[in-house]
Formats: sequence, structure tokens, C-alpha cells
Amino acid sequence: MEFEYTPKVKEMQARLLAFFDKHIYPNEKRFYAEIQANRQAGNAWVPTKVIEELKPLAREAGLWNLFLPHSKRAPEGLSNLEYAPLCEIMGRVPWSAEVFNCAAPDTGNMETLERYASESLKDRWLEPLLRGEIRSAFLMTEPAVASSDATNISCSIERNGDEYVINGTKWWSSGAGDPRCQVYIVMGKTNPDAGRHEQQSMIVVPADTPGITIKRFLPVFGYDDAPHGHMEIELENVRVPAANILLGEGRGFEIAQGRLGPGRIHHCMRSIGVAERALELLCQRALKRVAFGKPVAAQGVTRERIAEARCDIEMARLLTLKAAYMMDTVGNKVAKAEIAMIKVVAPNMALKVIDWAIQVHGAAGVSDDFPLASWWAHQRTLRLADGPDEVHRNAIAKLELAKHMNINPDDISMPVTRGF
Ligand SMILES: Cc1cc2nc3c(=O)[nH]c(=O)nc-3n(C[C@H](O)[C@H](O)[C@H](O)COP(=O)(O)OP(=O)(O)OC[C@H]3O[C@@H](n4cnc5c(N)ncnc54)[C@H](O)[C@@H]3O)c2cc1C
Repeated sequence: MEFEYTPKVKEMQARLLAFFDKHIYPNEKRFYAEIQANRQAGNAWVPTKVIEELKPLAREAGLWNLFLPHSKRAPEGLSNLEYAPLCEIMGRVPWSAEVFNCAAPDTGNMETLERYASESLKDRWLEPLLRGEIRSAFLMTEPAVASSDATNISCSIERNGDEYVINGTKWWSSGAGDPRCQVYIVMGKTNPDAGRHEQQSMIVVPADTPGITIKRFLPVFGYDDAPHGHMEIELENVRVPAANILLGEGRGFEIAQGRLGPGRIHHCMRSIGVAERALELLCQRALKRVAFGKPVAAQGVTRERIAEARCDIEMARLLTLKAAYMMDTVGNKVAKAEIAMIKVVAPNMALKVIDWAIQVHGAAGVSDDFPLASWWAHQRTLRLADGPDEVHRNAIAKLELAKHMNINPDDISMPVTRGF
């Protein structure tokens, strides 16, 4: 395995870091101030000026759609291994990914459309998404069923002539709060009588189709995450053309398996970036804050945590790079153990480092004067979204046990659950 970044990646890393110095860090507080001002004015659910101003600059700097794997539309597309260090940088400021059109859930939705949609669906939805003109949401999780087991998903997608009729309630549909969110990819059952993994399908649904109601937003530890948001959405007799089905009836699991690997690893890359940033804040605060006659950095416990944080970040980064390398070389299916491992390791690691950084900051650490509390809240959701830790650990354990039993590891599938 060769993890040395190529000259092309090193050059892009330098360009991205320069963009952060010039445009992202100086605007970091402005982003939150703008949303707060919108909230106080009565509507936080509007796109921010700061991101819209920065998007053309990112395009000009050649830092656009970096997540997109090699394809007809992206002849210069990057591999997972090449994208990893760039995505990590975006993790340093959680809202920044959108500036480069690399934000979830659009990235996963764009990859899904690129791989599985017809040319006319691509022209209608993929192109404006790639240009960053509209946004999208992925509707899989449902309040009524344990959605970590996607075979439970029960929203019905019924064929009626040239159309499909959709009925169901979804929640935690991330990004659906944004008025630019014009399209959903919905998972549901086309045939409840088919085999366990052939019942589900995915279908493209324009957000303004009659019968769709956004019922409410779901706060995360009190954060509304506006203007992105996580919404509960009701679909009542929603009719879309039959041609909107992706790949065909009963292929939902197949599509989910295809899209989940990259989505999961992108979250992990960003978790490493945010952990690096938290460690920086921890060290800076510990060096200048004096308690009981010496800087907090002089306390053994602080040094112990700094050292452990550095070790943990390095380990998580290496595992992420290994997973990315394997996805590029042997494919997502063979890399499923590494993808599951890093999905457990990276958010837990980031949570630990952020928690230590909060501790060093004292009460300031849980306030809005520092970004640590919101980073912690976000990372905590990653232990649930895209599959709870336990489900991934279960898959890892099954693969491990398969080595000692007469079981083909190919028969053990990657957990199908989806987050933002
Ligand atoms: C901030 C946020 C954003 C999200 N964005 C999206 C989105 O955009 N689109 C979308 O469709 N969904 C989204 N989700 C939903 C997310 O993917 C689900 O919450 C997740 O898949 C878990 O499903 P559930 O909440 O129904 O938990 P349940 O399935 O009810 O599981 C509850 C708990 O049971 C335990 N458990 C489950 N299975 C096992 C097992 N095999 N072994 C041991 N324990 C187990 C786990 O501890 C688990 O946390 C988001 C969630 C959050 C928090």
C-alpha cells in the first residue's frame, strides 16, 4: 500500500489550504452570525450569502466537485485515496464543504444519479446539482420502523399506469429545509412479497410534487442546523412518472450498497479534519490559560490527552486511507470490513478529542464562543447516521467469525442505512 500523496494531490492540497486561509477562516464566524440574524428576523431557512459568494471563487480556483469519481462527466475525477486529504481539510470547518459543492447529502445523491439514472434524469437533476444551483435530500429513514435495518423501510411505491404512487412518512431527511432543495431520492417498497433484499426500490421525486408536506424540522441537541435542516416529510399519493425509478424495481439495496461506501468514508475524512482542529484549539488554549500557577498545558493529564489524541488521529487517518485505497483497488464490496471499521473509529475518535478540547476550555468550551460544542453535537450524530456503531460492529464481527466458519464473506452484506 502506497499512501504518499501524489504531486497532483499535494498541489491541490496547497491550493485548498490557501483558499481556506483567504476565504473560509476569515468568514467562519460570519456564517453563523448570518444564520443567527436570519433566525432573529424570523426565517433561518434561507441560503446564506457567504456560501453563495464563495462558491464562484471556489470554481474559479478549480476546487469544485472534488468528490466526483472518474466518469464521463468528470474525466479528471479523483480516486477515494486522492480525495481523502482534501475532504479532511473541508472537515476543519463543517459548513465549508458546500462552498466546493462537496456537501452531503448532495454528493451521495449526485453519485447515485451519475451511476444509476437515465440520461434524461441526469440532464434534469444531476446537471444543476453539479453546477451547485439546486440541492437534494435522501429519504430513507422512517419514524415508524427501526431504520438501521433497511429491510424494515415500508413507504409504498406502487405502479399505476405510467406512474408510481408513493405513500409514507420519512424523517431525518437532511437538507430538505433548504429552499434550494428541489429533488429527493426516496427509498420504499415496490413489492412487499419479493425476497428480503428485492422489495425495495429508489425513485427520483421532485420536491414540489403535490402530496408532499414538510411537517417539521428535527433539532439535534437543540441545533436546528438551518438552513440545511433535518425534516420530517409526509408523502401522500405522490405521483411521479414511472421513468423516475432508478435502475428498476427491486434494485434499491443494490443502489444503496453502491452509494454507501463513498458517503461513509467522506464523513470519516471530515471527522479527522475536525479532530485535528479540536486538537489545535486544545493546545492553544492549554498553553495560554494559567491555573494554580502554571499553564494548563503543564499538567500531566493535559499532556497525556494531547499525546493520546495525536496517536488516535494518526491511527484513524491511516485506517481511512487504507479503506480508501481498498475501495479504489478492490471495490466497495471487498473493502466492506475497512469501511465499517473506519465508520466506527473516526467519529468516536473525533468525539473523544473534541471532548478533551472542551474540558481544557472549561465552561467556555460548551458555549457558542467556541465551535467545540457544535462540532461535538455533529460528530455524535455520526454514531447513528449512516448506520449505528453497533450495526457496523456486528458486520465486522460477522466477517471475523466467517474466517473460522464455512461462510463466504460475500454473503455478509454491508449495512444499508443512510445519513446526511
Ligand atoms: C443528524 C442526522 C441526520 C440524518 N440524515 C438522514 C438522511 O438524510 N436520510 C435518511 O434517510 N436518514 C438520515 N438519518 C437517519 C439515520 O440514518 C438513522 O437514524 C439510522 O440509520 C438509525 O436508524 P433509527 O434511528 O431508526 O434507529 P433504530 O433502527 O431504531 O436503532 C436504534 C438503536 O438500536 C441499536 N441497534 C440496531 N441494530 C442493532 C444491531 N444489529 N446490533 C446491536 N444494536 C443494534 C443501535 O444502538 C441503534 O442506535 C439521519 C440521522 C441523524 C441523527
